[in-house]
Amino acid sequence: MSHFFETRTEVTKYANEFIRRVEEHCQDEIYCKFKLQKITLDWDKKRRASRGGMYADGPGINIAMWRLYQPLGELHRVYEYKSFDSDPEIGGFYTRSKWHKLEMVILHEIAHALQYYSYKLNKFRCKPHGPTWKNFYRRLRGVFLNPYLEPQHDAKIEYQDMIDEVVGIKPDPLSRRAATR
Ligand SMILES: [Zn+2]
Repeated sequence: MSHFFETRTEVTKYANEFIRRVEEHCQDEIYCKFKLQKITLDWDKKRRASRGGMYADGPGINIAMWRLYQPLGELHRVYEYKSFDSDPEIGGFYTRSKWHKLEMVILHEIAHALQYYSYKLNKFRCKPHGPTWKNFYRRLRGVFLNPYLEPQHDAKIEYQDMIDEVVGIKPDPLSRRAATR
């Protein structure tokens, strides 16, 4: 039990520092007055969805922390929304890092906060995961996450081999096709 609280403290500290670095970057490169007025790191097990946007006091994020941390350090696949999961810049990825999934979700939600901040500033609206949001998310991913990912082609092959070993896939053309889709 105490181990859990130690981990939780470490992860919370890491997340807060990461958020501050991203916020600083947003102020330097995107909107100089952008400030996250509300940052909630919610460890409630029942919370599944994180969110980012406009709150009463201004832009904010609320991160569902549970299950964002990957303590094992093994190669795994992190998934983004299905409609852009295959995008090489804003989609899912393979990683061994215990922090990348958490970082991805934080960047995703800060991009929503930027998006709503931009709506207010420029008096327009766009879709939740539309071009405005994608543009912000792409910029943040390109600075804070993508440069730290290992070569994805090799990682994908290694991951696929690992899965095949676990599942013990026989050379069945149907399952093969499904596995490499
Ligand atoms: Zn979203």
